Amino acid sequence: MSDTSTTVTPAHFEYIAARTTPEDDLLRALKTAAEEAGIPAIWIAPEQAALLQILLRLSGAREVVEVGTLAGYSAIAMARALPPDGRLSTIEIDARHADFAESWIARSDVADRVRVLCGAGIDRLAEMKSGTVDAIFIDADKHNYPNYLREAERLLRPGGLLMADNAFAFGYLLDANRQTPDVLAIRDFNDLVARTSAFQSVIVPLGDGCWVGVRR
Ligand code: MG
Repeated sequence: MSDTSTTVTPAHFEYIAARTTPEDDLLRALKTAAEEAGIPAIWIAPEQAALLQILLRLSGAREVVEVGTLAGYSAIAMARALPPDGRLSTIEIDARHADFAESWIARSDVADRVRVLCGAGIDRLAEMKSGTVDAIFIDADKHNYPNYLREAERLLRPGGLLMADNAFAFGYLLDANRQTPDVLAIRDFNDLVARTSAFQSVIVPLGDGCWVGVRR
């Protein structure tokens, strides 16, 4: 450990969370309803939502794409950082998850800024025009992350914002005994991003680790 870095411990995470604006009633109710509906209880932490919102505001993003809607938590959180004429397109392969997310987006304060695209990430991204996207958040099936990265390179305008979740591989990044397909895919993806010259990127240790990059 160099003397310029502090090892981030669980206590640091608790400290950070205690100083982050908590989620509001709508997002809390969404989580409860998702659990009751048997939708996987996977969503970004409030402190990661704050990071994404700050990055979106700083970059002045209007046209945003998310790969992996799941319950719609991060879509609603990110859309709140867009201007009134901004638009977030979120892609979900599972029709049941897409329906659930759509119903919660419809009752949110950003219903006019979010559209759910049902289908495979690769197919829906391929329909989008090159250089037209301001920011993209990748949070879907891990073995396709390299494909999503390639599409992000094509879709983002110069200066566009790349964000990708789960760089810490659900906590197993450095656990050599953990060799599941998803963990292996994240390790490969992290190495791929590190050598991708199209982006200047860094992993921010919030939530399960979040890649943040800028399209050169
Ligand atoms: Mg994730």
